[in-house]
Amino acid sequence: HRFCKHLPKIELHAHLNGSIRESTLVELARERSVSLPAKLLQHEAEHHDADRDALFFNTKPRSLEECFEIFSYIPKCVDDVAALKRITREVLEDFANDNVVYLELRTGPKVLLMDHCAPEMGSCSKKQYLQTILSIMSLFENQEKDRHNHDMSSSTEKLVRLPMTPRLIVSVDRSGTVEQAQENINLAIQMVALYPDHVVGVELGGNPTRNDFRRFEPLFQKARDHGLLISIHCGEVPSATDEFDTSDTTLKKAYEEASAVLQFRPDRLGHALLLPNDLMNKLMQQPIPIECCPTSNVMTLELALHHGGNLIGGLKMHPQLQKWIERKYPFSINTDDSGIFCTNLTKEYLLVAKVFGLHENDLADIAIRAVDHIFDKPKRDALIDLMANRIEKLKN
Ligand code: IMP
Repeated sequence: HRFCKHLPKIELHAHLNGSIRESTLVELARERSVSLPAKLLQHEAEHHDADRDALFFNTKPRSLEECFEIFSYIPKCVDDVAALKRITREVLEDFANDNVVYLELRTGPKVLLMDHCAPEMGSCSKKQYLQTILSIMSLFENQEKDRHNHDMSSSTEKLVRLPMTPRLIVSVDRSGTVEQAQENINLAIQMVALYPDHVVGVELGGNPTRNDFRRFEPLFQKARDHGLLISIHCGEVPSATDEFDTSDTTLKKAYEEASAVLQFRPDRLGHALLLPNDLMNKLMQQPIPIECCPTSNVMTLELALHHGGNLIGGLKMHPQLQKWIERKYPFSINTDDSGIFCTNLTKEYLLVAKVFGLHENDLADIAIRAVDHIFDKPKRDALIDLMANRIEKLKN
């Protein structure tokens, strides 16, 4: 646990609103008289409290459907600028305190109230939503550098916490319209001009049972033409095993969509869990880095169902991870929605280590290799130096 905690880590797949602290969500809901569904709230893992592996039990079910039901409550609570500022700051702090040295946070811009207590003050536009996050990010980055310099000069601690670099990916929600997607992509392009150091890419996410990547493809091409890097969620729902398999139109559509995603060659893929074998084999030949989110995968695929909520038992049934590890496929370990899945990156590394019998060197290797997948390419060399240095100290 100590090694995973202190290991300098890279987080590439974290949704801002899904990373909200549960305590904050509860507080914001209370202030706004929003009643949250009981299943959303954390219950101690009663029967495993005394067990040292309690960490690996997650008694809250989070099927794909339930996740999207829970997501629908968050905007009712994060409904004004103060709430947005608060969750952004807290999420940055939580990742930094977990020894994440580089974070790509993603979010879909939303229209909020300026102040939920004074609706007459009007609304905060999608552009202001992104600007609010970006100004907090750039302030945070400067504060992190100052804090680190100060700690280095005043502390005798060997493992002074390293500074975290935060970056933003603008999300497109696949359950929205093409016009909404266009608005988000255009905003991302505008934001690069205003915050060239902080906006690094765009992504397609949201409920995978809705719509199709192909509807949005020209917009992602436009983003690419403007220099933005691209991540696409894929393989979250079952598909036909190859182009000739089955007459089931849903499975066939999922296959064709996954095929179109791979043909587009995004810079990274989110999840890529249930890709049909022939497409997975193609990826093995010409890899695209995959953002793996272990707990999220176990929960949304309901793999822990037969193991009483045991994440270890569930992750053993992960459809791809064992193969990716064995073949050194370029994948990174991420949290997805740390608030919804009650996790953090330390827990994710620990979980993967337990299930696949990985040692410190393997985990360090996975963390360092993730640097090759970051969207802020110029940061690569400095990050590798920083991490390698820290890992050396950690081993001694
Ligand atoms: P936001 O973009 O900051 O509001 O983050 C929450 C949103 O991220 C959710 O409403 C979903 O649209 C999206 N999201 C979070 N987790 C997943 C996932 O596992 N698959 C697809 N979309 C997701």
